[in-house]
Amino acid sequence: MDFEMSNRQKQIRLAAREFAEGELAAIGQECEIKESFPRDLIKKGSQLGFVGAFIKKENGGLGLGFLEHAIILEEFWRVDPGLGQVFSSLTFGAEELQFFASEEQKKKYLPALVKAERIMGFSITEPEAGSDTASASTSAVKDGEEYVINGNKVMITNGTIANFILVYCLTNPEEPSKSKRHSIILVETDRPGYKADQIHRKMGIRASDTANIYFNNVRVPKENLIGKEGNGFSQLMKFFDHSRSYVAAHGVGLAQGAMEQAINYVKKRKQFGKSIASFQATQFKIADMATLIETARSLVYKSCWNLDRGNIDSLLAAMAKWWACNVAVRVVDEALQMHGGYGYLEDYPIERFYRAAKILELYEGTREIDKMMIGRKILGVT
Ligand SMILES: Cc1cc2nc3c(=O)[nH]c(=O)nc-3n(C[C@H](O)[C@H](O)[C@H](O)COP(=O)(O)OP(=O)(O)OC[C@H]3O[C@@H](n4cnc5c(N)ncnc54)[C@H](O)[C@@H]3O)c2cc1C
Repeated sequence: MDFEMSNRQKQIRLAAREFAEGELAAIGQECEIKESFPRDLIKKGSQLGFVGAFIKKENGGLGLGFLEHAIILEEFWRVDPGLGQVFSSLTFGAEELQFFASEEQKKKYLPALVKAERIMGFSITEPEAGSDTASASTSAVKDGEEYVINGNKVMITNGTIANFILVYCLTNPEEPSKSKRHSIILVETDRPGYKADQIHRKMGIRASDTANIYFNNVRVPKENLIGKEGNGFSQLMKFFDHSRSYVAAHGVGLAQGAMEQAINYVKKRKQFGKSIASFQATQFKIADMATLIETARSLVYKSCWNLDRGNIDSLLAAMAKWWACNVAVRVVDEALQMHGGYGYLEDYPIERFYRAAKILELYEGTREIDKMMIGRKILGVT
């Protein structure tokens, strides 16, 4: 075993930290308040290699691993969760293309993502099919050389700004097995019949675009199918095994950032004639936070390290996602508590971190779905 990071990984962390502390910190609060998407920032970030670091060299990427991708996102979320989410989601679904798209499709779509010239999204959730993805009813019906898509997806990241969206569609409704009925189809958002309504005033991560999207007889060539028809569910599960691991890194970064803010605060704040850092109750809280974060980080890195060796471990990915995201929610709660009433005001970033944290237990599989997966795997039941 070797827990040591390589020099390259250490450099990537330092570079990501420097960029986050310089560039993300400067505009994070403004983007949150104005719900504005930072186009200039993502261009700068892409030039430094912070967009889709896991995308292979032959597809225009840096060819790094999911571990490096996770380290970058951890550093971004440490400084600003909203902008961290923006960077994470620019290539959300690119794994699906990397695993299942044809060489021609990869060349067509992936390099422009890395350069932040184009943005993508991945739409799975529907009004009546959230956690139960196998019940999705957005349909794609073959008509000659095209698919005709109809339906409605909700809460889709980048819905109004993406150039193309992967759509989880029902293509084989007659299949007896629910897990063989769906396919993943790429839809360019400038096609007639695509409509997106932006969702405003989310609880947090407001710089990140979220929308309800509608497909009204959207026609795409059959070449837009990603992977195999009827394989959508298994392709989706492979995607989640990867995305859960780096989304878990969001939780590590948010928790680390929140703890650092609490440490700075308690060292400065005096009550009863003493720094509140000198109270044992405060020290115990910091001990809990630091230990929780360390366990989450170890789990997340192990899960990413495994992926980079080609070992897909659904159990470890679900554990990492559940634990790191739960740690984030717990740590940010204590960190705000340590700010007293000031933590409740916009003046301190901890308020923004607190609002951001909850999304981590909701998207990419809710806390309950993560635990369900862990329990089922361990018990060997379906
Ligand atoms: C900001 C934001 C961005 C998002 N981005 C995207 C995106 O880009 N693409 C996309 O497809 N979706 C996206 N989503 C949607 C998100 O993935 C879903 O909200 C999530 O999967 C849960 O689905 P649901 O909201 O329908 O909840 P439901 O599935 O209705 O769940 C409601 C509650 O019931 C629990 N529950 C459900 N089933 C079970 C069960 N079997 N056992 C125990 N408990 C259960 C859940 O854990 C939850 O607590 C986004 C959501 C938000 C808020």
